Amino acid sequence: MKLLVTFSRRKGGKPIIAQVVRETGVLINVERAVIDSSEGEALIEVPDDQGRLVSETMTALGAHARILDHGITVNESECVDCGACISICPREAFTFDQEYKLKLDEGKCVLCSRCVDACPHRALTLLL
Ligand code: SF4
Ligand code: SF4
Repeated sequence: MKLLVTFSRRKGGKPIIAQVVRETGVLINVERAVIDSSEGEALIEVPDDQGRLVSETMTALGAHARILDHGITVNESECVDCGACISICPREAFTFDQEYKLKLDEGKCVLCSRCVDACPHRALTLLL
């Protein structure tokens, strides 16, 4: 599952994700991170059965972690299979099937929202 983690870098500046890995033993895949001198936001992926443990440990260490239950959805009645989202997605989350119908692999998505803006038919929605 994916979690969106926000944290302050002012409270001692310890690397929060490394701390959580050490305390829980859970391997964390960092899919996207934006960090400046005062705060950070990271999209992480962890095994489904360990999301709650990671979230609680993050909270105990002063970060905020939210389990993401949603993500990108395609409104198939609006999509015209033009492929604009395929071109712009940095993770190759979209492909065409053999009949040139759009397919989405949600596991590859890093919730950047580029495809939402690029879709000429407003067929994509990002819910966090
Ligand atoms: S950009 Fe929009 S209309 Fe085009 S294939 Fe993607 S979801 Fe469908
Ligand atoms: S939100 Fe970003 S990563 Fe996810 S499908 Fe759209 S373009 Fe790809």
